[in-house]
Amino acid sequence: MTTTTPIRVAIVGGGIGGLTLLLGLLEHTSPIYIQPHLYETAPAFGEIGAGIAFGSNSIRAMELLKPAIATAYKKHATFHSDDSARERKVWSTYSMGMDGKGSNTLKAGDHIHEVRGSVERSSVHRARFLEAMTDLLPDGYVSFGKKLIDLIENSETNTITLVFEDGTTMEADAVIGCDGIKSRIRQILLGDQNADAAFTGKYAYRGLIPMGEATAAVGEWAANNAQFYWGYDGHVLTFPIEHGKTMNVVAFRTKDDGKWDHGSQWVLPGDKTNMLREFEDWGDDVKAILGMMTKTDIWALCDHPPADTYYKKGNICLLGDAAHATTPHQGSGAGMAIEDAFVLSHLLSHIRNKSQLESVFAAYDTVRRPRTQKLVTTSREAGELYEFQKPGVGDDVDALRANLDGRMRWVWDIDLVQHLKEAELLFREYNGQSDSKI
Ligand SMILES: Cc1cc2nc3c(=O)[nH]c(=O)nc-3n(C[C@H](O)[C@H](O)[C@H](O)COP(=O)(O)OP(=O)(O)OC[C@H]3O[C@@H](n4cnc5c(N)ncnc54)[C@H](O)[C@@H]3O)c2cc1C
Repeated sequence: MTTTTPIRVAIVGGGIGGLTLLLGLLEHTSPIYIQPHLYETAPAFGEIGAGIAFGSNSIRAMELLKPAIATAYKKHATFHSDDSARERKVWSTYSMGMDGKGSNTLKAGDHIHEVRGSVERSSVHRARFLEAMTDLLPDGYVSFGKKLIDLIENSETNTITLVFEDGTTMEADAVIGCDGIKSRIRQILLGDQNADAAFTGKYAYRGLIPMGEATAAVGEWAANNAQFYWGYDGHVLTFPIEHGKTMNVVAFRTKDDGKWDHGSQWVLPGDKTNMLREFEDWGDDVKAILGMMTKTDIWALCDHPPADTYYKKGNICLLGDAAHATTPHQGSGAGMAIEDAFVLSHLLSHIRNKSQLESVFAAYDTVRRPRTQKLVTTSREAGELYEFQKPGVGDDVDALRANLDGRMRWVWDIDLVQHLKEAELLFREYNGQSDSKI
């Protein structure tokens, strides 16, 4: 039976995942059938001052989700400054960040490899990208200062009540948890099983350096083109953002005992002297980069154990980091959130009553869970690779090169249109519509 009562979809969390989902729903669904609203705990949209890179899959997902998102991204994106690197579609250049040991006779600064993508590499300042997306939002679809603390399922009405910390409540037909790595909705959905993210044994320092200083320290080419500096139990990544005005830096270390002693406090104030001491055996370029960092906060890198499901009945579903938080070593967590939003918003465009929600969530779960959970696993492996820790590879340069090639291809080269078709077929099957067109 069809109904013209719109299905109320509550999106909880306004990061890249929640925002792209809202924009996708406004683009692809009709207000007659779907009424989305986003609830964000913060008083306004906001992102940290740091860079983020997007591969071809992420940019394609933006284009398919809403072409204006891709246009806004490209407006703010920064590409390699070097024409030849752009032509070769270089993703990153990899070199030794410190002298090799034993049979690895390379010296700090020696070139190891270069990985190429199917489109030229680009990166963006997170806050600029988020602002550009919020500019695309019409008024009236977002409530700020709404920290979700609980969900109450009402079996009689087949609705769900969102309970916020400020004492208010709101009723919806479905809730999509886009509330990030510490997701409350993930806890509610999964219970104690596999809900909480775990420390991966690595932490990072993140910083932005004015390009003039960066160029003076490491040279124009290295500062303006994405670089990895690899070493034993650590690595450093740099890439340009803000149209070449700023160099983004992330410096990673493996913690000796593999433990995080600060509970759920995952960002700690750091100390520059300690940070420099941790890299004192490294080469001149790395030391020069770290010497320019002004912020020395320490970010614990955590990821999620694989969830058995991303949804519960037709009521609750997870998207982005709430579903599959990953380490950043393949630079693809946010891209996967955008892909999630692309698939889910299109699937939701096919439904006409809320009894079909469960088929949408089941189809989304079937296609998205394997791909996104694979990233969590391979990203951890990449972190080991970059720090000469991967069993069977270590610091063997030939093995490192062989392992790097192809590591990103499955992420970048997905045919997203086909991926959605698979989800749509499953939706039809689960919805008992296998002979009908959607
Ligand atoms: C060092 C580092 C580098 C990275 N680099 C890249 C990269 O280059 N490329 C890439 O694709 N990915 C990268 N990532 C991953 C990327 O940052 C995340 O995957 C992405 O930001 C997740 O977006 P999200 O919207 O799912 O979650 P979040 O960005 O965490 O957003 C969650 C939102 O929910 C809100 N919220 C939380 N709890 C509640 C609640 N109870 N009620 C209401 N609102 C709530 C929060 O305020 C927030 O706005 C990197 C990650 C790190 C740590």
